[in-house]
Amino acid sequence: MKRNAVYPGSFDPITIGHVDIIERASKLFEHVYVVISVNASKTTPLLSLDERLDLVKKSLIHLPNVSVDVHQGFVYEYALAHDCDSIIRGLRTITDYQSENQLFYFNYQLSNKKIDTVALFADPNHIFLSSSSVKEILAFGGDITPYVPKVVLDYVKEKK
Ligand code: ADP
Repeated sequence: MKRNAVYPGSFDPITIGHVDIIERASKLFEHVYVVISVNASKTTPLLSLDERLDLVKKSLIHLPNVSVDVHQGFVYEYALAHDCDSIIRGLRTITDYQSENQLFYFNYQLSNKKIDTVALFADPNHIFLSSSSVKEILAFGGDITPYVPKVVLDYVKEKK
């Protein structure tokens, strides 16, 4: 039985909500491929793909069975090419449920039912946390200390 999974996202930037999902997934699967994917509908990125790759790797350095990659294309194709049978997603609210349900079906159909989706409930403390809210707080000069790994905080401060 295959026990590898892909966790895709834009990670612009990675938050403690993402890290929590990845830590929990790393206990359920033999290997977790965190895949930074390009989201065409999110037009104004805070960080370049190279910056995200570096910060995501540094934020997950404590997890030996997790690797990080950039992929521009369908996530199900990445999953098939890396011997994965699952895509992991984090569920915060009913809004996530609706969009994740559509994504599940898309990946399931396009992969000829080879790729399933495993949804993990967000920690209740992270339900209102998103990369977009972190970007908004930054835009207004607010403090993102409670929401992102320390490497991200230090990098963003330095970049300013
Ligand atoms: P965001 O939704 O913050 O822009 P991504 O597009 O990178 O983040 O989302 C990647 C995955 O992580 C999605 O399944 C999303 O629902 C999940 N996710 C995002 N933020 C959180 C959080 N705070 N807690 C749990 N899961 C989350």
